[in-house]
Amino acid sequence: MKRKLLDILACPVCKYHPLGLEVVKEDDKEIVEGRLHCPKCNVYYPIEDSIPNMLPPEGH
Ligand SMILES: [Zn+2]
Repeated sequence: MKRKLLDILACPVCKYHPLGLEVVKEDDKEIVEGRLHCPKCNVYYPIEDSIPNMLPPEGH
């Protein structure tokens, strides 16, 4: 995902914005691996193959 996407991504559960970002792997264009964090829900959303998985976690 592009870093710019952070400007528009919000937590799908509580709509918190902006989300925290931890980058594991990044190329010259985008974040390939990492995770997004909602401090309000204390939930992490994984980024895999440049795609953020914004599905609400199980049990929420
Ligand atoms: Zn949240």
